[in-house]
Amino acid sequence: MDARLEAIRDTVLARNPGEDEFHQAVTEVFESLGPVHDRHPEFLEGAVLERLCEPERQIIFRVPWADDSGRFQINRGFRVEFNSALGPYKGGLRFHPSVNLGIVKFLGFEQIFKNALTGMPIGGGKGGSDFDPRGRSDAEIMRFCQAFMTELYRHIGEYTDVPAGDIGVGGREIGYLFGQYKRITNRYESGVLTGKGISWGGSLVRPEATGFGTVIFAEEMLKTRGLSFDGQRVVVSGSGNVAINAIAKAQALGATVVACSDSSGYIVDEAGIDVGLLRQIKEVERGRLKDYEARRPNVTYVDGGSVWDVDATVALPCATQNELDGGAAARLVRNGLLAVGEGANMPSTRDAVAVFQDAGILFGPGKAANAGGVATSALEMQQNASRDSWSFAHTEGRLTEIMVGIHDRCAATADEYGDPGNYVLGANIGGFVKVADAMLAQGLI
Ligand code: NDP
Repeated sequence: MDARLEAIRDTVLARNPGEDEFHQAVTEVFESLGPVHDRHPEFLEGAVLERLCEPERQIIFRVPWADDSGRFQINRGFRVEFNSALGPYKGGLRFHPSVNLGIVKFLGFEQIFKNALTGMPIGGGKGGSDFDPRGRSDAEIMRFCQAFMTELYRHIGEYTDVPAGDIGVGGREIGYLFGQYKRITNRYESGVLTGKGISWGGSLVRPEATGFGTVIFAEEMLKTRGLSFDGQRVVVSGSGNVAINAIAKAQALGATVVACSDSSGYIVDEAGIDVGLLRQIKEVERGRLKDYEARRPNVTYVDGGSVWDVDATVALPCATQNELDGGAAARLVRNGLLAVGEGANMPSTRDAVAVFQDAGILFGPGKAANAGGVATSALEMQQNASRDSWSFAHTEGRLTEIMVGIHDRCAATADEYGDPGNYVLGANIGGFVKVADAMLAQGLI
């Protein structure tokens, strides 16, 4: 790392002790930015990096709610409003027991650059709670969402901060959150949340957008080597919103997706995953992946273990951060891997990224490859602002244009900075320069 940037990075780490994922995300971005500061000394003079690493606002709040047996439960809620240089804070809410400030900050930090890369007018933010939705009844989920919004509502708004979904927050939760926001504020403010239902202000393609976008990005990477998804053997981790839609899109492009996972284990289905059955189990029944094995022939379910033990030519990690380590990366590379598209945020450890890059694997980092979700959220905001709703084909066309644009911008930036094919460098520099320019233009704030 450039010595000037390393000194700033060390201060950031010291000021934010114990936030391991945030440290990892900051270090990974700083490693790309040395050459930018050679060309743009004004970024150092303007303390852009110091400002960028300090969120504009961090909100931590109590979420008190009653479970079905009437017992009071207390969770912790977070919203980190990281950077508004390009537009209102924008980023999802995660409900998962692992959520803490460091995780929300890593996600919010990544979101700044991702949102810049989309070319849409959105800043970066992220939030969530350590609430565990697993095993909770629908009524409990509703009461929790209402309690969460009862505090969050005072901090958000269509021109201020626009949350969406992430792990543990899908269409059902966005519905309960929106309902409570409307009740408290007495405003039908569609643009305050994205990922809404289609009949009440949502956008077609938003549910599919992250997974579809990841595959579109990976397809563009494959094209640079004269390849495509057609005929590829694909492994996907996770079986949630991003994973399921990535599987659907990869198979629509002619790939065979042979494995996917949840936090309990993984399935191997050599005939290609039956997306309809997977949706039925995960989205309708809210069941476990193990249920898939009994309902389809010739499927193996592996309890525990790592889905990355299954060979693939294309790997799409779509579950969570640091789920693919250096050992798994080396094994995949030895067994014929060509490309990785990160549907999740920071799913590959720094060791894994180094293995992929050293081996010349096409590697699309999450902040570029999974930007289709937030980009389509911005399209939802456009539709809300104009009180319009677009067709599936039109919206998917816009998503495709945006993903191809992100790919091409990352590739062009990597070329410009003398490291062709390095999408990590391209994404970090491409996103950073846009935000840094806007911050300098807006003065010391
Ligand atoms: P979902 O909650 O719909 O699905 C998450 C999936 O990942 C589930 O299969 C879950 O398994 C698995 N998973 C979650 N945490 C862990 C863990 N600690 N260990 C192993 N498996 C785990 O979330 P999404 O699909 O929305 O999000 C997946 C990833 O994509 C996240 O990194 C998210 O930040 C990122 N992302 C999501 C976007 C979106 O639009 N939704 C946009 C951009 C990025 P189980 O059910 O067993 O917990």
